[in-house]
Amino acid sequence: MKLSSRIQNMSDSPIRKLSPYAALAKKEGKKVYGLNIGQPDIEAPEEFYEKIKEFKGILSYADSQGYSELLDSFVKYYKGKDILFKKEEIIVTIGATEALSMAMLVTCDIGDEILIPEPMYASYILLAQQNSVNIIPINTKVENDFRLPEEDEIVSLITDKTRAILISNPANPTGRVYTKEEVYLIAKIAKEHDLFIFADEVYREFIYDDVELISFAHIDDIQDRVLLIDSISKRYSACGARIGSIASKNKDLMKQILKLAQARLCAPLLEQIGATSFTNVPEEYIIESQKEYKKRRDLVYQALSNMEGVVCHKPQGAFYMVVKLPVENAEDFIIWLLREFSIDNETIFLAPAAGFYGTEGLGLDEVRISYCINQESLKKAMNILAEGLKEYNKIKK
Ligand SMILES: *Cc1c(COP(=O)(O)O)cnc(C)c1O
Repeated sequence: MKLSSRIQNMSDSPIRKLSPYAALAKKEGKKVYGLNIGQPDIEAPEEFYEKIKEFKGILSYADSQGYSELLDSFVKYYKGKDILFKKEEIIVTIGATEALSMAMLVTCDIGDEILIPEPMYASYILLAQQNSVNIIPINTKVENDFRLPEEDEIVSLITDKTRAILISNPANPTGRVYTKEEVYLIAKIAKEHDLFIFADEVYREFIYDDVELISFAHIDDIQDRVLLIDSISKRYSACGARIGSIASKNKDLMKQILKLAQARLCAPLLEQIGATSFTNVPEEYIIESQKEYKKRRDLVYQALSNMEGVVCHKPQGAFYMVVKLPVENAEDFIIWLLREFSIDNETIFLAPAAGFYGTEGLGLDEVRISYCINQESLKKAMNILAEGLKEYNKIKK
């Protein structure tokens, strides 16, 4: 029987593509440090579980727009960030993932285009394929700290099919926190070319240096075109809860998005109830996790800087970095690490970065490293990478 060409053209997740090799290594008894996925190892706040435990009664559908108390708590959270949204300007979604899909569906017809800096969060590619939207990559490079290109280079990518610019800030997978100039440049381009901005700011709390995050929601004269996409997944280490949000000052747009929210009935009720507790979580929770990630960032960056031939930038946010390795084919190296290499019967699992590029053939010698595991494990993982590179290059030469 025939399946849709849409699904047949859809790629596999680059993060999980090589998972069978990791599974095999584990089966052979090797310990595998997973630097491939961005699953935080920090526990969600206990308030979340306490709140859910209190629940009794009928597990009904929630309101399509979102559980009222949770919407209130999002309003309060944003206010603390100088982002002023009213309750009616927010819709609770099934993770930022659904919010992204809604943003595409509400602004793009089949074949319309969205500009996204590459390397990009791999799910953007899958979601665009799923919604029959074409991604036009804005190329950025590790050698240049993944800075956005000049205005005319970005503008030259715009066609009469371009509907939006999607920016993850702080960025997955590069860890870049865009400067005020870059954020304002995107705002200016969007305004001049009548584009929407999908502002994916799920890593808002994860910034390690003394840099200020300029939210697109902070820029007054573009508020009719900004869709702010958010999530509790990373902020409160609650990926499995599947709670996110989409917010905009554009009333007509929000009215249309509500149709999509109604079509899928509601976001999970228990998790929404649990998430209302986050306004009571002491600020230390986020400060402590920031501190921990900063230490991990420093550890990984330091180790990589000492490896010969490795090109990397110092990420300022999120918990990833994209690194150029002195190998021809990073995927081959990753598979080799899993199959052939170990130190004390331990090895590492990296994500090939090629899958994060929208342009075919780029990033072949790059990997994405996620530093979501504890410092002790990261130290061992970095040692395995350093020794692995030496050994691999000896064999291949
Ligand atoms: C993890 C991630 C998401 C997905 O968040 P969910 O709320 O778990 O769906 C979206 N955008 C970026 C950049 C991410 O890294």
